[in-house]
Amino acid sequence: MPEYDFRCDACAHRFTARFKTYASYDSATLRCPECNSGELTRLISQVAIPKANRDYRTLSSQEMLSVLESGETGPVDEMFRQVGGGSGAGAAESSSDSVDPVDSA
Ligand SMILES: [Zn+2]
Repeated sequence: MPEYDFRCDACAHRFTARFKTYASYDSATLRCPECNSGELTRLISQVAIPKANRDYRTLSSQEMLSVLESGETGPVDEMFRQVGGGSGAGAAESSSDSVDPVDSA
């Protein structure tokens, strides 16, 4: 069940909204429970993604969204590389040891 945290821009109240489906989230009109303002900012909840064994092809759509919204270019690039180019054509870029500067510690 999708669950999102929001902050009201008017009164800074924070609350969590739950939705039965992603479609209901898309169509929902949210209001601050404190002041009834519609000026809400969705807070990005951290989704735990194990760094050692990232396989973005197995992520749920919510997890992918979380990676995108994190703004981290490394994970985002890696996700697109795996999800977009991983269907057999990308053999040339398979040297996985030195490609990702984030995880090369
Ligand atoms: Zn409010």
